[in-house]
Amino acid sequence: MSKEKLIESIRCIPDFPIPGIQFRDVTTLFKDSECLQLLSDMMYEMYKDKGITQVVGIESRGFIMGPILATRLGAGFVPIRKPGKLPAETIEESYDKEYGTDTVQIHKDALNENDVVLLHDDLLATGGTMKAACELVKRLHPQKIYVNFIIELKDLKGKELFDKDIEVESVLSL
Ligand code: AMP
Repeated sequence: MSKEKLIESIRCIPDFPIPGIQFRDVTTLFKDSECLQLLSDMMYEMYKDKGITQVVGIESRGFIMGPILATRLGAGFVPIRKPGKLPAETIEESYDKEYGTDTVQIHKDALNENDVVLLHDDLLATGGTMKAACELVKRLHPQKIYVNFIIELKDLKGKELFDKDIEVESVLSL
């Protein structure tokens, strides 16, 4: 069992959701119990000594490994959601997409200055979504922010969007 096995377990769907996109489908990794266990172990090893107090997952594929990792790290889990989904008072960030803009929200009282945050999503493409999530979390002034993905699409250079003081790591590079 290795990274190669994990990469093989990810299904690639050409031209989804629009022509030209190679969609990396992580559901085929998640449904394989050995792959799911291995991924969870690898992510735990990456962050076990960082003092993470809150894992923050981005809707919706960040809601799968996010809570799994949080329970292993003994941390809490906080969701970042699309507009209108969170019930209490929120703050939000908007960001440009290829066509139009998108917005992400977090509860205003979700984090505090004692928190060490691990932001998680399934995949880093252009980085716009995670960059906005990062700006959102910064506004709640945690001690430190780490950023994690299952997959980084290296050619898109999304990692370059992030400030040098933020550690951005992915389990797999494609
Ligand atoms: P981006 O903001 O460009 O980094 O896009 C990241 C978000 O879009 C993540 O939530 C991904 O789940 C999704 N995404 C973007 N490109 C792909 C892709 N090729 N395969 C699967 N998901 C993708």
